[in-house]
Amino acid sequence: MKITSVDSIGLSGMSPKGGWSHEIKPEDSVHSLIIIRTDDGKMGVGSVFTNAGLVEAALNVLRPHVVGETAQEPSRVSEKLHQHMFWMGLGGTVTHTISGIDIALWDIFGQITGQPISRLLGGCYRSRVMAYASILMEMPELMKEQSSFYRNEGYRAIKIGWGPFGRHNDPRLDEKIVKAAREGAGDDTFLMVDAGGSDAYWPNGLNWAIRTADMLKDYDVYWFEEALKPDDVDDHRTLRERSPVPIAGCECLTRRQSFMPWLEKRAIDIVQPDVTKVGGISEQIQIARMANAFGVRYIGHGWNTAVGLAADLHLAAAFPTTDFVEYIGGSPYVDAITTSGWELGEDGMLAIPQKPGLGIELDKDALQSMTVADVNRIVG
Ligand SMILES: [Mg+2]
Repeated sequence: MKITSVDSIGLSGMSPKGGWSHEIKPEDSVHSLIIIRTDDGKMGVGSVFTNAGLVEAALNVLRPHVVGETAQEPSRVSEKLHQHMFWMGLGGTVTHTISGIDIALWDIFGQITGQPISRLLGGCYRSRVMAYASILMEMPELMKEQSSFYRNEGYRAIKIGWGPFGRHNDPRLDEKIVKAAREGAGDDTFLMVDAGGSDAYWPNGLNWAIRTADMLKDYDVYWFEEALKPDDVDDHRTLRERSPVPIAGCECLTRRQSFMPWLEKRAIDIVQPDVTKVGGISEQIQIARMANAFGVRYIGHGWNTAVGLAADLHLAAAFPTTDFVEYIGGSPYVDAITTSGWELGEDGMLAIPQKPGLGIELDKDALQSMTVADVNRIVG
């Protein structure tokens, strides 16, 4: 079975806010899908956390290495792409785009074998996983309202991130925001805090992070994410040694090699590679296994699409300590691009898809309302 085509579908028109200091507008393109087709009529779908134009440019370089390849060997084909791209932008857009290709190839591999990806990864530790609602920080009044809303929607874990937190040089405001979120979420809900240190010109350093971690302990915060600039491995190590709250991060890194110093230096408690950036499922497995060997938990960053969420669910099934997936609150790219949608169980859990491959089906009409690409031509 051979790969006959690889195309991209850039998503735009309904892009959710990211809390970035240069805020994402609905019409901005930050996520793209990858569609791979085979000579026996199969189709696989992947997701890339990158602008549509950049993904298409990367595909122009990658396509000659993909079309004509065997369709049922995702890890080998992805590794071939990494190996041929050292001089062509590996680590950035090219690696992000390989992620989408790799996820689509795993989707096809599952369809060929009749198995869900989770089983192909070696076995399932769970059939359901807790979804945490990933929402933006707001000023205290609205923060309480927002966290209460998601609690009432059925979530038993909520992560608040970015927005005003740490950006007003006012530790009392930071505490009021977290206090409001805890009040809205209730005492029986997991609460995580994401400072968003990968924001442009993140103003805070190690002392702020240590003081803030102490404050978060008082609100029973489950992890503290991106408390420092994303490249600052040594300060992360110091923070991890001093923080009473587990330290999470590494959502910006790509390629397994970038994670090695973070693991070797014991700079992190929870590592959060993004399957739509890091190199796909094949690369994410290797990072998760390395982390596991160092006693570091792997819980993927999932601020992307329904396709990324499906990949995260299969990966969560395959790793013993990965008991959360990230679910963006209010993103049509997660909620509306599949025919089945997502149903949260009463206890805040999502089921791991059991159908072959990723186990999801694209809703072509919904997808067409979110892209300028010709969905019928690409998806068929
Ligand atoms: Mg984050």
